[in-house]
Amino acid sequence: MSNESFIGHQIKEITAELPASARLVAISKYHPASSIEEAYAAGQRVFGESHVQELIGKEACLPKDIEWHFIGHLQTNKVKYIAPFISLIHAVDTIKLLREINKQAEKNNRVIDCLIQLHIAQEETKFGFTYEDCRELLSSNEWKELKHINLRGLMCMASNTDDMNQVQQEFHEMHAFFEEMQQMVINDAPQFNELSMGMSHDYPIAVKEGSTLVRVGSKIFGNRIY
Ligand SMILES: *Cc1c(COP(=O)(O)O)cnc(C)c1O
Repeated sequence: MSNESFIGHQIKEITAELPASARLVAISKYHPASSIEEAYAAGQRVFGESHVQELIGKEACLPKDIEWHFIGHLQTNKVKYIAPFISLIHAVDTIKLLREINKQAEKNNRVIDCLIQLHIAQEETKFGFTYEDCRELLSSNEWKELKHINLRGLMCMASNTDDMNQVQQEFHEMHAFFEEMQQMVINDAPQFNELSMGMSHDYPIAVKEGSTLVRVGSKIFGNRIY
């Protein structure tokens, strides 16, 4: 292997172009631990996975200073497997899941960072809260009693479309909504300052619209083999 692998090159190039306000989450799902090691060698420390079994296998064999993010739909009965080590859960889509994360975090003597997932895309199949339901959740008192979760912000996926004007508009609305929620929760969640949006094909737009965490997979690791 040459000193500068394709993966390492991509990590360095993407990172160099990001503004200081945005961090790269390298999405390594379906890619082997050896690919993660190549990215690690190029300096990447934040990785995102979307399947619990795959994540715990990788966490066990890779360096301990990796910051693992969970980005996929998380079933409540699987929270316990990742609660000991997970750094940030991006896709909290029910209050039930938030309660379970709180419970498992407490068992592990931890406070776990979480983002609320919004469903803003046109597709019907995606998980997440509507703007209205998220506003209702965050204006309620229930989440404030969960002392072992740290609400850090919001996450979304744009519509799966080639219409980049539409994608930009969706990210723009999302950012406005994020600022509204930030104002609303600031006293109870002073660290509510992360907006996770943007993937391989649309992250430059997301960054322009205020993303603080971009989730880039195939642009770094190539196509996934399922
Ligand atoms: C797979 C995935 C990504 C990365 O997608 P790419 O198009 O490969 O960059 C980002 N976010 C979520 C939620 C994903 O499931």
